[in-house]
Amino acid sequence: MRRSYVAGNWKMNLDRQGARSLAAAVREHVTARTRADVALFPPFVYLADVVQVIAGASIRVGGQNLCDQGVGAFTGEISAAMLSDVGARVALIGHSERRHVYAEGDAAVQRKVARALAGALEVMLCVGETLGERESGRTEEIVRTQLSAALQGVAARDLARIALAYEPVWAIGTGRNATPDQAQAVHAYLRGLIGGLYDDGQAERLRILYGGSVKPDNAKQLMGMADIDGVLVGGASLQPEAFCAILDSGK
Ligand code: PEP
Repeated sequence: MRRSYVAGNWKMNLDRQGARSLAAAVREHVTARTRADVALFPPFVYLADVVQVIAGASIRVGGQNLCDQGVGAFTGEISAAMLSDVGARVALIGHSERRHVYAEGDAAVQRKVARALAGALEVMLCVGETLGERESGRTEEIVRTQLSAALQGVAARDLARIALAYEPVWAIGTGRNATPDQAQAVHAYLRGLIGGLYDDGQAERLRILYGGSVKPDNAKQLMGMADIDGVLVGGASLQPEAFCAILDSGK
């Protein structure tokens, strides 16, 4: 059985004190009885603060992005080694805001996955279709293309360090979430793809999170579906009570 995984993407929100307080509230809530793995993705500049606040707790901290290059003249970028150096364990890669606002293509996503894995980080890899793509019946084609491009060159042994997040673009920050059945159908499809790219055992072990307007009132139903192993939460992760309620909704 796959352990639930709940992650909060704080995006470009909060100030330093707000980040510390939010991390402290989550830390307070997470105990040995918490049934889900937990990850927080603060803005880069607050990573060290959050790592300090959650020290000793069973909470992962991650970067919302990372550079597809190793070191050098890449102004404004943050490398995998820098993330590790400040205590981050995970890199969020391929988020739809990176893909659509910053025109990050599949090739860049693939290079970032490779950099993160080479730097001993875990990866949370996001895939998802736009509304137009869904309405024209292209959901499977889009997530298949994104997934197979991102995993190109990823060895089977490294898959254990990857979690997928299915995030339909039309559901992110819109208040319009996919129904549990809609999400389940895509999750099952993704799991099948992993089975084909690797093997059934790897596919069974891989955690696939859903993201897109997850709130305390829909989290339980979503995570109750057979192939939905957790949730990636944006807006609601900024409210400690809401995020902690979602945390408690795992299987
Ligand atoms: C996200 O940013 O990954 C996300 C799912 O956002 P929201 O929960 O606000 O839709």
